[in-house]
Amino acid sequence: MADPSARPRARSYSSIVSTPTVTTVADGVHVAAGPDVNWTLLVDGTDVTLIDSGYPRYVGAVIESLARLGRRPEDVRAILLTHAHIDHIGGAAHFAATYGTPVLTSSVEARHARREYLEQAGPADVVRNIWRPGAAAWALRIARAGGTRSGAVPDADGFEAVVDAGGALDLPGAPVPVASPGHTSGHTGYHLPHTGALLTGDALITGHALCRHVGAQMLPNLFAHDREGEIAALDAFTGRDADVLIPGHGPVMRGSVDAAVDRARRRAGVA
Ligand SMILES: [Zn+2]
Repeated sequence: MADPSARPRARSYSSIVSTPTVTTVADGVHVAAGPDVNWTLLVDGTDVTLIDSGYPRYVGAVIESLARLGRRPEDVRAILLTHAHIDHIGGAAHFAATYGTPVLTSSVEARHARREYLEQAGPADVVRNIWRPGAAAWALRIARAGGTRSGAVPDADGFEAVVDAGGALDLPGAPVPVASPGHTSGHTGYHLPHTGALLTGDALITGHALCRHVGAQMLPNLFAHDREGEIAALDAFTGRDADVLIPGHGPVMRGSVDAAVDRARRRAGVA
């Protein structure tokens, strides 16, 4: 009989979202959506790179999204963060503590993930924006999803150590980091040149509970650490071989990413 003490200790997690939608957008590229934020799974054989990890109480949904693809949490080689806001880093601490999953992002953002500093809208910012249609229900949802927790990942590290000679990360899916600071100081998108997919994180989105329109746009000001930097960072997404836009919030969008950037600029009144 197997020694039960030799088995990995099962840890409990509480989850409020267990039915994410999971959509395959390109070969080995799967986008999962909870009610208020997306995460992406890059699958290569049995190995997975998880890009972002939802709110803290989305952990069950993240694990469910892996299961839909026939993968287990132990198959995740790394969690890669676009940035360390609580709606993207939420599940990472659980994976790191339970499965020893490395959590990587730019070296600047890794400090944010370790909570050596915080660049995030707080409850007062949310209250100031509660007049927006849908904001009260959204605020309640994100509070229930663990949106007021710290989410700190003490061992978060810079991905610079795993960049290969071609500039891609030596991880499943071979994502290429796209520095796009502004939303947060170390915000990073990820380009998947072999599929034409571009993950833009929160620097360029297509929908959000606080936004009236669906389509390429920037998040409302309250979420930005540095609005001017955020506007300038849109340039990082143009001129790439990309026609599948995977945003941090809102639906995946097909078509020219350059045109999407133009639309976002116009909507923000900066073009
Ligand atoms: Zn976000």
